[in-house]
Amino acid sequence: MLKINDINVYYGNIHALKGVSLDIKQGEIVTLIGANGAGKSTLLKTISGLLKPKTGEILLEGEHLAGKVPQLVVKRGISQVPEGRRVFANMSVEENLELGAYLRKDKKGIREDFEKVFQLFPRLQERRKQLSGTLSGGEQQMLAMGRALMARPRLLLLDEPSMGLAPLLVKTIFRIIEEINQTGTTILLVEQNANMALSIADRAYVIETGKIVAAGTSEELSQSDQIRAAYLGGH
Ligand code: ATP
Repeated sequence: MLKINDINVYYGNIHALKGVSLDIKQGEIVTLIGANGAGKSTLLKTISGLLKPKTGEILLEGEHLAGKVPQLVVKRGISQVPEGRRVFANMSVEENLELGAYLRKDKKGIREDFEKVFQLFPRLQERRKQLSGTLSGGEQQMLAMGRALMARPRLLLLDEPSMGLAPLLVKTIFRIIEEINQTGTTILLVEQNANMALSIADRAYVIETGKIVAAGTSEELSQSDQIRAAYLGGH
């Protein structure tokens, strides 16, 4: 579905992604694991069109996306849940969700997706008139995910959804990610919580200082001594 071939991304003269290649097949959950500053957010931002690779290709079902503007990427079916949620604090839950659908014109489909988001996140329905800035961290994460789903993506990019959440809530969020995947949405999940990410992903890539250093099925990576020592707390 998505194929990234040998991309190089720079911030000025900082070489943030060094020849990164990866692929995601329709229906998969793929996770990208890495330490702080490894380049995970940079890769997501490059896929979603916020950053332009200097060289290399990004292909969505054969169509070149590298360097295309974010609106076009969203229209083609990729939406991102940014790190740190970034909901519009002075707008209600409902208004935030409406914004997620701003490129769509199919009113009926939008109404259906409102219902779907409220089914996935009953909390958001209860709070639909509440100002988003007053939601708890977990509720804001749910809203950021709901907003991305309102674009009806085929590929959902999630940037550290577990960050700053209590363990029980992390479990809830991960269960919902699996549910979203089961309804047919392909997922690229960026996480520092490698244990949780590998527990739901089909395959994983490990990134270190801008380079992919390991790739395989979640099972393979969970069994690798090196990965366990570096990312899984040595368990
Ligand atoms: P984290 O888990 O901490 O979010 P990450 O793996 O997502 O880390 P990135 O945010 O992609 O890492 O950063 C990769 C590298 O690029 C880091 O060395 C970072 O300092 C650098 N970088 C990120 N954004 C910028 C920027 N706007 N200007 C310059 N350098 C940047």
